[in-house]
Amino acid sequence: MNPDVPPDIDQRDFCCERLFEVLMEGKLAFAYDRQIRELQVFNKGNQWVQRIDYCPFCGTKRPSSLASEWEARLEAYGNSKIFEDDSIIPEDLRSDVWWKKEGL
Ligand SMILES: [Zn+2]
Repeated sequence: MNPDVPPDIDQRDFCCERLFEVLMEGKLAFAYDRQIRELQVFNKGNQWVQRIDYCPFCGTKRPSSLASEWEARLEAYGNSKIFEDDSIIPEDLRSDVWWKKEGL
């Protein structure tokens, strides 16, 4: 199991079985940030992170990142401390619930 991927990630959010398997095995440094819908590859030693826009196995374009939309919703929450204190981030925004609920 890959500790960088929540165990209850939905396989249907990925374009192919191979990508899902590699992600879940954790043999490569792939991660999925479901809050902002970003597939990422990263170097565990140097901690660089690169967003992946196309699946490296089948070439399908990934759904767009929702990083700016996520930040906009944090700002709309109206509490500037939200960027320093994760504990006040609303539950829906901590996972993929918010964008699935909005149909993004
Ligand atoms: Zn694929």
